[in-house]
Amino acid sequence: MVDATPAAFAANSPSRYWYEGAAEQFADFGLDVLLGGGRQYFDGEARKDGRDLLGELCADADCVGTAEELAAYSPDDRPLVGFFSADDMDELEQRPVGVPAMVEAALARLQRDPDGFVAVFESEATDNAGHDNVSLERATADILEFDRAVGVALDFARRTPGTLVIATADHETGGFSLAEMEQDFELAYTTGGHTAALVPLFAEGPLAEQFAGIRDNDEIGRLLMEIVQGW
Ligand SMILES: [Zn+2]
Repeated sequence: MVDATPAAFAANSPSRYWYEGAAEQFADFGLDVLLGGGRQYFDGEARKDGRDLLGELCADADCVGTAEELAAYSPDDRPLVGFFSADDMDELEQRPVGVPAMVEAALARLQRDPDGFVAVFESEATDNAGHDNVSLERATADILEFDRAVGVALDFARRTPGTLVIATADHETGGFSLAEMEQDFELAYTTGGHTAALVPLFAEGPLAEQFAGIRDNDEIGRLLMEIVQGW
């Protein structure tokens, strides 16, 4: 939860690695939904300052900790908080809860807000897969899981007019491309790091046209802020 992409929406920090500080800002922000991994940064027994952010958050929220509890969740006006692992949830087979299930539960809670909402969903798995140059099969499974999560959001948007859905990546990882080998072309990784390759940027719903064309990645956040402020 407190990794760079989600943290940028609820915390402000000189370093992306100050996870405990970001967790504190998450707890103080008053978020309606908080679902994912990274429990150790909220746990008073694991935090350096001993502050029990978990206890604070759960004092006035529906708190879940397993896939079964999330599936049984029925939304009310209290925040929904779910920590499913102490650290990242990046291994698809070992992930206690899938991204689509978290998107589903989050939207069920957030649609109760008559003023609307902003929700951010991140899959870290595809980035880690690129760093590790995993098999094509593994990489595809991670991408398909993210695709199913986008599907849940699009289903919601199509029955909830006025919803803007944006799906994108902050960068490509692994330099995965059709590379020239000795006699042939093959799908291959060309690095274990991030690349400057163009990434997809999809948008559907009101103002989607503002996301058309080729854009610098920092423009997306600015556009989002303008849209939310003018909504
Ligand atoms: Zn990365």
